[in-house]
Amino acid sequence: MGKLRVDTKACFNDWVSLIIKMDKWNIQPPLIMRWLFPGTIWRMARNENSVYLTFDDGPVPEVTPKVVEILNQYKAKATFFCVGDNIRKHPDVYQTVLDNGMGVGNHTYSHLKAWSHPAGVYFEDIEKGRTWNPTLLFRPPHGQLYPWYVPRLKRTFKRIVMWDVLSLDYRADLSDRDVYNTVVNNVRPGSVIVFHDSLKAWPRLERALPDILEYLNLAGYKMKLIEGGKAAINS
Ligand SMILES: [Zn+2]
Repeated sequence: MGKLRVDTKACFNDWVSLIIKMDKWNIQPPLIMRWLFPGTIWRMARNENSVYLTFDDGPVPEVTPKVVEILNQYKAKATFFCVGDNIRKHPDVYQTVLDNGMGVGNHTYSHLKAWSHPAGVYFEDIEKGRTWNPTLLFRPPHGQLYPWYVPRLKRTFKRIVMWDVLSLDYRADLSDRDVYNTVVNNVRPGSVIVFHDSLKAWPRLERALPDILEYLNLAGYKMKLIEGGKAAINS
């Protein structure tokens, strides 16, 4: 048995995991969580009636084009945080996202969790993702991050985008009505809202998304792109 030492990483992980296990705080993270990661974005300008829709984990042919179609129907723009390996497998679907004027962000190449991999492996995976997806936006998979990673990420990315409302669309124990209620009960001016263009989320998203967009339109929200999500390093 070895020496006694405080494992900063493990303490940090336990503490943050405890917070995000609570539904209420997982859906809309408390200020203390946001303060832990200076330089990241959770909510955009609150003096404008705009919200920022985001879709993680695609592109996949079964879901992403349908999401784009629904967004177009409601004249909404959104930012897609793409997994590099999915772009490699489905470059045409990635192109569809771009051709429809949507934004894109880096979500690593292999959907790596920051807390389960050494920094070297994690940042290499992000770089690999960049070769498929040259964007200035980044979102860490599962929201896992260390505060001390932020300055390093900011050398490459203009914005590290977290969230103000998590739709819980990936939860099979919830209904599409639950997902709808989660979003409409928590949305506010400047909200960054997380959905998933994934097979896992689609059973709920298919029905919830049109209703959510209808609600947001009626409530007078503009659904805008996050600046920096054009697929070119210089955008
Ligand atoms: Zn993800």
